[in-house]
Amino acid sequence: MATSERDYYELLGVPRDASEADIKSAFRRLARELHPDVSDAPDAQERFREVVEAYEVLSKSETRELYDRYGHAGLRGGGFRPGQFDFGSLSDLFAAFFGDDILGARTPGRSRGADLAALVEIELVEAATGVTRQVPFEVAVTCSRCSGDGAEPGTGVTTCPTCGGTGRLQRVSRTVFGEFVQTQACAACSGTGRVVEHPCTRCGGGGRVVEERRLDVEIPPGIHDGQRIRISGEGHAGMPGARAGDVYVQVHVKPDERFVREGNDVFSTVDLTMTQAALGTTLTVPTLDGEEELELSAGTQPGEVKILRGRGMPVLQGFGRGDHRVLVNVLVPRHLSDEQRRLLAEFDSHVDERTYKADEGFFEKIKSAFR
Ligand SMILES: [Zn+2]
Ligand SMILES: [Zn+2]
Repeated sequence: MATSERDYYELLGVPRDASEADIKSAFRRLARELHPDVSDAPDAQERFREVVEAYEVLSKSETRELYDRYGHAGLRGGGFRPGQFDFGSLSDLFAAFFGDDILGARTPGRSRGADLAALVEIELVEAATGVTRQVPFEVAVTCSRCSGDGAEPGTGVTTCPTCGGTGRLQRVSRTVFGEFVQTQACAACSGTGRVVEHPCTRCGGGGRVVEERRLDVEIPPGIHDGQRIRISGEGHAGMPGARAGDVYVQVHVKPDERFVREGNDVFSTVDLTMTQAALGTTLTVPTLDGEEELELSAGTQPGEVKILRGRGMPVLQGFGRGDHRVLVNVLVPRHLSDEQRRLLAEFDSHVDERTYKADEGFFEKIKSAFR
C-alpha cells in the first residue's frame, strides 16, 4: 500500500496544535478543491488521496497521538494502514461525509431528466445520401395543467412533514472517517420537500405526463449501422427547473441484398455467361447512385474485380467516398442439348495455344484490384 511520507499537518496546511474543528475545515476546503470530479489538475487524484490519508490520521485522537510522537513509523508500528479502501468507494464516502450537494451537483429535487433511446431504420442507399426521418418516441414531459408541480390549479401545497420541507433526510452512519451524517432524498416527498393536497387531474400529481412526440432527425451521409445520434434536451423532463434528458437515436442500416458494405467500400457481384465473358459485353449493374453501364472486355475472367472509384459510401463527416468493387462471376452451362454439346466440341477442336493464354500482367491486375 502506497503511503505518503509527507507531513500530515503540512498536507492539510494546519499547525501542529490545530483543533479538531480546524483540521476538519482544512480537509473540507482541500477536498472540495482537489476532488477529482472538480479538479482538472493531473495530480489531483493523488493529492486528494494524500489529503484523505492525512485527515484519516489527524481526525482521530488515537492515531494523531501516535503520529505526533513517532511520526509515520509510529503509525506503522501501531498497525495503522491508511487507505484501506479503493478510490471509488472513497468518492462515496466523501459524498456521505459532506452530503450530496457539496460539489454543487445532485441536489435532490433538481435532477436532470432521463435520456431515452429511439430506433430508426434506413436503407443502405439512404445512408449513402443522408436522409431526414421522422422518429416517433414516447417521452415524459412537464404537465401543462400544473406546470409540473403536481397540484391541481388553485389548490394548496404543504410542506412535507417527514423532512420539514428540505427534501432530505439525514442518517448517521459509520465509515472509516468515524461517524457521519449521511443525507438522502426524502422518500415521502421524493425529495421535493412538498406535499400536494389535491393532485393534478391530468398527471395524477407526478408533474409529468407521457406524450407521443416526433422529431425530424437528420441522418448524415455515411452513417454506419448501429451508430447513435444524440439530440440534446429532447428526452424526459426533469424535476421542475432542471433540464430535460437527451434522445439517443440508434440508426439501423438495413442490409441491401445487392451490396455488401465494408467500411466505406461496397461490393457487389455481376454474373456473365461464358460467351459474354469470352466475347465481351456491356451490362447494367446497380450502384449506390442507381443503374450504371459496365463495360466488360472480351476475355473477362471469373474473379476479376471492376473498380468504380469513389462510388462507395461517403466518409462520415469527412470528404470523399470509398470505392465500389464489382466482382465478376462467370456462369458455365450446366445443361446442354445435343446440338449445344456438338457446337462446343467443335469449338474445342479449334482451340490453339493462344486461346486461353493469359495477357501479360493479368495477375498483377487482379492483385491491384484487391490492393
Ligand atoms: Zn399536472
Ligand atoms: Zn419529505
